[in-house]
Amino acid sequence: MTSLSNKLAVITGSNSGIGLGVAEVLAAAGANIVLNSFTDRDEDHALAADLAKRHGVKVRYIAADMSKGDDCRQLIAKAGDVDILVNNAGIQHVAAIEEFPAAKWDAIIAINLTSSFHTIAAALPGMRKRGWGRIVNIASAHGLTASPFKSAYVSAKHGVVGLTKTVGLETAEVNITCNAICPGYVLTPLIDSQIPDTMKKYNMTREQVIRDVLLERQPSKEFATIEQIGGTAVFLCSPAADQITGTTISLDGGWTAL
Ligand code: NAD
Repeated sequence: MTSLSNKLAVITGSNSGIGLGVAEVLAAAGANIVLNSFTDRDEDHALAADLAKRHGVKVRYIAADMSKGDDCRQLIAKAGDVDILVNNAGIQHVAAIEEFPAAKWDAIIAINLTSSFHTIAAALPGMRKRGWGRIVNIASAHGLTASPFKSAYVSAKHGVVGLTKTVGLETAEVNITCNAICPGYVLTPLIDSQIPDTMKKYNMTREQVIRDVLLERQPSKEFATIEQIGGTAVFLCSPAADQITGTTISLDGGWTAL
């Protein structure tokens, strides 16, 4: 198993879902961790203490709002010598483009795309100085393909894939890689919160929504799991992945092969 001991990993948006799961797997591989969200609640600090205790690594929670450029850069500055940066914070809003609230568009582009520009720009100088860095952007199958009613999300995630390629090229000659993980559907709070509305809209049961709506385009008919995404992030930080950069890895049960 890959050992990431003495590496410091910052995972944006990591007080729930995929971010917390990736933090868990990186901590299990020995990395010290910075958890982040904008909420700054007691529970957020408790998550950090619990992770540290269970894996015997150092874990800090740093509050920063990924919709704000300055906060993104301060997160990296406060974290210290960042070796592994996982850009994960993300939100979703589903509406036809004519009805899409402009404020939601702005928030999705800021949190899902622009935050990664700021964190990467802030983390790269230290990575270059220390001669090692791994950047893992959590994009989506929607970074490679589109669905209706998700204009901002699809645009942001395509942007993340473009940013990933560019940073991969800009760091190609140093020991820094930048890749994007593109999951299909993963059952996290982000997805779970979409189920009740869809049940109402189509008069379906929860099971029908999962199989016939959410997983309609996922040929495996199974959700990708948080553990699989965490395992892929650890792989991208392992020596086996040293020549993998500027690219995407899909965990989508065949969705983008269609
Ligand atoms: P989630 O809602 O469980 O987690 C989102 C995280 O982002 C939370 O920790 C939340 O606190 C954080 N966040 C939101 N706004 C923030 C802000 N302004 N500042 C800081 N943190 C903020 O959702 P998730 O499903 O775990 O999604 C995580 C990432 O994975 C997102 O980028 C999402 O687009 C991507 N993704 C999810 C799926 C899926 O099916 N769940 C599929 C593909 C990609």
